[in-house]
Amino acid sequence: MTTDSSPLPPENYNGRILTGNYSDTLKKRVSELISSSRSIEQTGSPVSHYLAAWHENENVIWYEYVPHKVAALLGCQDDDVAAAFRNAVLDRRVYRYVGFHESKIAEEVLNRQQLSGLRQDLREEGKEKGRVEAVYKIILPENRTAWLKDQARVENYSNDKVCLSFGCLTDVSKEMEQKDLLERIGYFDQLTRLPNRAIMDRLMDVKIGEFERGYTKDFSLLMIDADYFKSVNDTYGHLAGDFVLQSMAEIMSATKRKEDEIGRYGGEEFYGLCQGSGKSVRLFAERLRKAISSHKYTYKNHDIKVTVSIGIASAREVEKISKESLIQMADQRLYKAKEKGRNQVVTAS
Ligand code: GH3
Ligand code: MG
Ligand code: MG
Repeated sequence: MTTDSSPLPPENYNGRILTGNYSDTLKKRVSELISSSRSIEQTGSPVSHYLAAWHENENVIWYEYVPHKVAALLGCQDDDVAAAFRNAVLDRRVYRYVGFHESKIAEEVLNRQQLSGLRQDLREEGKEKGRVEAVYKIILPENRTAWLKDQARVENYSNDKVCLSFGCLTDVSKEMEQKDLLERIGYFDQLTRLPNRAIMDRLMDVKIGEFERGYTKDFSLLMIDADYFKSVNDTYGHLAGDFVLQSMAEIMSATKRKEDEIGRYGGEEFYGLCQGSGKSVRLFAERLRKAISSHKYTYKNHDIKVTVSIGIASAREVEKISKESLIQMADQRLYKAKEKGRNQVVTAS
């Protein structure tokens, strides 16, 4: 298949296609992509553009081009990056938007062992979708860990039985370490994935500080408690109750504005923190209340209905601002909402 019009391999070429028995179309494309990657590398770009390839009948992936800095990071020779990368990977993570209005992000993790059995499937998936996006946790010489985000476009050359993956690797170690730290400390509630009370404490400290220095005019705390939740568990079981709590969390996350925070206080109680007070906060609470009560929670063919009662307290209303005084006032109003018949919002009378 090689003809005189085949492009010549560039200097220090470690790939297979340009020197192998492949079509001119494929060789031209490889040559083009290598030269694009080189041009980007020469700009001093902090990301690493690479070109990888695999053959349908073989189980290995190889690089047609990979910048020297990737080999340097892995502590290997330029022609050994594919094997060194495979050996260095601790896990592979994919992030997808899920839930109501794509309000949440799900993380799918494949550890080293799972990955070794799934490499072929993952390549097939990339071929089908035409793209790949994943974050790899890798172990480097001297036991340092790093995180590389891989984003690639996959092109299929069926006549040659070859797929090309043209992508870039970005070092996202700082961002991923921060995320891991928050998870290790346990700032997020396991069941609902919402921020827990520790975050509420911290946010309230910040908000109170800003309020005292006059940076903000007012802010409000919402205490949100599911009505008669014990009877949901008693009627449908605890797993149904858990499902309802998860759905409530998704609905509230999708209903709130970006700058507001909704978290789990504990049990069937949630909190909300938002800027401002008075009418705007009342409207926000009403939106949450209606979103919760109008939803049909379907668990194993059971349609479950839930309502919430909400008590609101604003910083300017309490005599001396503190976390305790705000929580106490919001709690009293929540209690009032329960007394008045539940499924309602109570603010300053
Ligand atoms: P009220 O309207 O007065 O708030 O009634 P309630 O039944 O919601 O209040 P109560 O405090 O009597 O009961 C709270 C219930 O919430 C009991 C508890 O089993 C349930 N609950 C708390 N946390 C969880 C959880 O994580 N999962 C499930 N399934 N249920 C929970
Ligand atoms: Mg309660
Ligand atoms: Mg309750």
